[in-house]
Amino acid sequence: MTPTALAIAFPLIVTLCYAALCAISPFGNCRKCRGFGYALKTDRRGRLRPGKTCRRCHGDRKRIRVGRHLFNLAARLHRDGTR
Ligand SMILES: [Zn+2]
Repeated sequence: MTPTALAIAFPLIVTLCYAALCAISPFGNCRKCRGFGYALKTDRRGRLRPGKTCRRCHGDRKRIRVGRHLFNLAARLHRDGTR
């Protein structure tokens, strides 16, 4: 495989993998709290303690993937446009 073909194929494969990931599991763990639902704090002894509810996901622990969100937008647009 030539370097040019590789340069074209590689991002394509990554995109396909990401699209497949979005299709299989449209929701990912919240990046801010890593799926805990609340902000982790360390107390004076250095132990992890649950803090306030995560501001990003509001305690839902999950967030919709960017790719899935875009897909939903496109699907809605298509549905509204073809009616
Ligand atoms: Zn969160």
